Amino acid sequence: MVIGEHRPAEIIIDETALYHNIHTEQQRLSAGTEMFMVVKANGYGHGAVQVAKVARAAGATGFCVAILDEALELRRAGFVTEPILVLGITSISCLPLILKYNITVTVSSIEWLKQAIRQLSDKQLTNQLRFFLALDTGMGRIGLQTKETVKQFSMCWQAAQTKLDFQGVYTHFATADESDAGYFEQQQQRFATLMSALPKRPRYVSVANSATSLWHQTVEANLVRFGIAGYGLNPAGTLRKAPFQLQPALSFTSELVFVKQVQPGTSIGYGATYTTPKTEWIGTLPVGYADGVDRRLQGFHVIVAGQFCQIVGRVCMDQLMIRLPQKMPIGTPVTLVGTEANLTITLDDVANYCHTINYEVACGYSARLPRFYQ
Ligand code: PLP
Repeated sequence: MVIGEHRPAEIIIDETALYHNIHTEQQRLSAGTEMFMVVKANGYGHGAVQVAKVARAAGATGFCVAILDEALELRRAGFVTEPILVLGITSISCLPLILKYNITVTVSSIEWLKQAIRQLSDKQLTNQLRFFLALDTGMGRIGLQTKETVKQFSMCWQAAQTKLDFQGVYTHFATADESDAGYFEQQQQRFATLMSALPKRPRYVSVANSATSLWHQTVEANLVRFGIAGYGLNPAGTLRKAPFQLQPALSFTSELVFVKQVQPGTSIGYGATYTTPKTEWIGTLPVGYADGVDRRLQGFHVIVAGQFCQIVGRVCMDQLMIRLPQKMPIGTPVTLVGTEANLTITLDDVANYCHTINYEVACGYSARLPRFYQ
């Protein structure tokens, strides 16, 4: 993917904000509880390697990613010793790579574990396979669901202990961001039941994502998988107050690259969905949905020279148009996300307008936008 270094559009990441969010939560954890920073999807669009560096300085002792390649990116960037847990399912065919780079994988079925044990024997692989066991307590995604399968797991593990390094066990809550804790409590109950079928507690027991860590008391766990809140974004969007001031780390800025005055009745953009009711100044920005500016943002706004300016017409792949209050010079700075003067556009504002969540907006900013850290 080409990075647009020669166009005026960039994502700026505030490392102090990242540090503040991660460190503050770290300080709130009970003694003996560790934090792995979740840096999957390129650190939720913020840049995995840079975020991991800040997270390590702020007290995170390991990292979570979604896929093996993301784990390898971190190892190659110099995270040589920290545990890196792949939260998704990794193909058995990757076993040599997993062992070579000492990556921690998720075991989520007995079949997968048996295949892994077979390969570890067949191929005379000497390193132990480091893994976390995933328990599905109500997320309905991956992991063991019943006491019987946990018992089967225990038998497999006990029979092949020399090949396996059973590092941890985790579950994932489906509703930890909601104020009604009913389903959350059911999941906690199921977790306790499934855990009772394990012959031993591994080193790590992890139940908490950001929402759980921010808002819930959990029992028996000693590892938090901290994602969205580390980036300064509220897991509940605008629906629930966080226990401390989260500082959003991401801003998105650009510039006017074209400015014109148009006559009344001039249509703007694909589909001619906006027609000027009067003489207007229209500015063009060099970013579009290929950069992650959602096409549903027609009618939303950006900040130009201390004023909100409406996005008019459909967002194109690489450009979008805004209505200006008056003539403005080419090169005028534009804020799509962030604060300018006393105005702010948050990722939640963008997400709410698009009927989605801040996670999706942050992850959606494409690699074409360069990231700068300050
Ligand atoms: N753990 C798992 C298994 C996840 O899938 C995720 C993110 O989706 C997280 C932890 C981190 O969640 P959050 O970003 O809400 O903190």
